[in-house]
Amino acid sequence: MGQEGMGYNKGKGGGGGGGGGGLPMTAPRPRGASPHSSHHHRSRKIHRTFNNVKITVLCGLVTILVLRGTIGLNLSLPNQPTDADALAGAKAVEDIDRILREIRSDSGPDDVDDAGDLGGSAAYNATALNATEAAAAYAAAVGRYALGPKISDWDGQRRRWLRQNPGFPASIAAGKPRILLVTGSQPGPCDNPLGDHYLLKTTKNKIDYCRLHGIEIVHNLAHLDTELAGYWAKLPLLRRLMLSHPEVEWIWWMDSDALFTDMAFELPLSRYDNRNLIIHGYQDLLFDKHSWIALNTGSFLFRNCQWSLDLLDSWAPMGPKGFIRDEAGKILTANLKGRPAFEADDQSALIYLLLSQKEKWMDKVFIENSYYLHGFWAGLVDKYEEMMENHHPGLGDERWPFVTHFVGCKPCGSYGDYPVERCLKSMERAFNFADNQVLRLYGFAHKGLESPKIKRVRNQTTKPIDDKENLDVKAKISTTS
Ligand code: UDP
Ligand code: MN
Repeated sequence: MGQEGMGYNKGKGGGGGGGGGGLPMTAPRPRGASPHSSHHHRSRKIHRTFNNVKITVLCGLVTILVLRGTIGLNLSLPNQPTDADALAGAKAVEDIDRILREIRSDSGPDDVDDAGDLGGSAAYNATALNATEAAAAYAAAVGRYALGPKISDWDGQRRRWLRQNPGFPASIAAGKPRILLVTGSQPGPCDNPLGDHYLLKTTKNKIDYCRLHGIEIVHNLAHLDTELAGYWAKLPLLRRLMLSHPEVEWIWWMDSDALFTDMAFELPLSRYDNRNLIIHGYQDLLFDKHSWIALNTGSFLFRNCQWSLDLLDSWAPMGPKGFIRDEAGKILTANLKGRPAFEADDQSALIYLLLSQKEKWMDKVFIENSYYLHGFWAGLVDKYEEMMENHHPGLGDERWPFVTHFVGCKPCGSYGDYPVERCLKSMERAFNFADNQVLRLYGFAHKGLESPKIKRVRNQTTKPIDDKENLDVKAKISTTS
């Protein structure tokens, strides 16, 4: 128990987590020597020997400038570029800027948006309303919002479908329930170009875990309902996927900024036989303290059933961006302990719903804290070496955390609650800590938790099957080899 392991995040609202409208910020310079300057040196050598040098140098420069524009490196070039070089470089940078601008500015009307502009400021001019009028307008608007047409017999529909499609059973090998892991990120490029690199790493990490455990995976980039952009995007997505995949028994949302750090741990699903929502949190923080961090919506599971559709329907109405989300934010801040003033977020809205309708929902909710279904990064990332020294994968708790979640880091956005260098370094550590558990299966390990470079940790063999290499994911990770 205690506060450790829970994300306290003072500004979850940040930039709203939307479509990435901000200006690109300067990326920190990566550690180590840059490979680009040596490339340039080589080109200079060739210059003295061959005739068609100029083209080579020009190409090299363009490459450097393109890379510089793309990954945000701030290289100081060892040689003064010629006018032609500078011109070509400027053109490349200009092209990239233009393409990024075009992608980011594509905010035209969305034809899949059939929810109407319920929450948008077009419908209400909040500043022109007094408090009573605003409350009335909010009550009217919030009551009109729906994720989709009301479905009331999903359990029956799903049962019939499963009977008619025996080739797609709701369980896989050894009777394990079929699980679909769902994650997602904004439709456009990250504000900080390094954010895209870490999105790739966090997605690779999820693919690895899923492959090792027979879990299916979806990475979504679309806003199925433009009213519910940002951290609310998971709600319409989860509903849609439940309906489109009746064969899936459990649907598991995981934030893009959460990593699996225990590649051997498996969900104790039998514990949840008569529960429909599994979420990390603390009962006392929820019902005694009304804390806004009592639960964390960065990693949770829904059973594919009517109850879950109903819960999503009750959870979503605070989400439509603009007037509704802003007004709902005030209600949440007034009712939840520790919550700063900002627009309604999905986590606070779920906590508020479960607090205000405890009788209706709680008997099917499992609040899990016996392992880190969500683990707050700040208390974990500096202890990985210690964990490797004393424990082994497969434990899932503070000895070897199942999930490390970078709450408040916003690696893809511009305004996190923590310094971007600290976040990126910590994400690199978490990624490599997890990746070591995967690479070991192939005889490799990272040179250190902060190094993307790897080394061999097992001798090669000509009889890989007979020699029974150590393929136990739960074995202790050697810290000496
Ligand atoms: N997200 C998404 N689409 C978007 C923006 C965000 O699917 O357009 C997801 C993404 O996976 C992100 C999550 O919403 O991790 C929640 O936001 P975030 O992790 O930034 O919030 P925090 O955990 O810091 O409170
Ligand atoms: Mn998150």
